[in-house]
Amino acid sequence: MFDGFLTFRPSCEACGLSYDAFNAGDGPAFFVMSIVGFVVVGIALWLEVTYEPPMWVHGIVGGGLTIGLSLLLVRPLKGVLAALQFVNKAEQGRFR
Ligand SMILES: [Zn+2]
Repeated sequence: MFDGFLTFRPSCEACGLSYDAFNAGDGPAFFVMSIVGFVVVGIALWLEVTYEPPMWVHGIVGGGLTIGLSLLLVRPLKGVLAALQFVNKAEQGRFR
């Protein structure tokens, strides 16, 4: 489905379905921010309450988790949103 890290191929290599109409826009980024933000803030609070570590530990743990989880989640989420567009026949600027 992907050509590169986040770019869609022109069409499906299995069935030839065109990916031209799929545009998830900011959707994947929004969900990644919401999910990663919730998880990282939760872990940071737990870390502070449980161990009271120095600030640099929060920087490494929070920064590493934020970057790592974001890179891990953005590609599958973009695929899921494109699949949802296809299943629900969503199009730009059309209201039913
Ligand atoms: Zn296909």
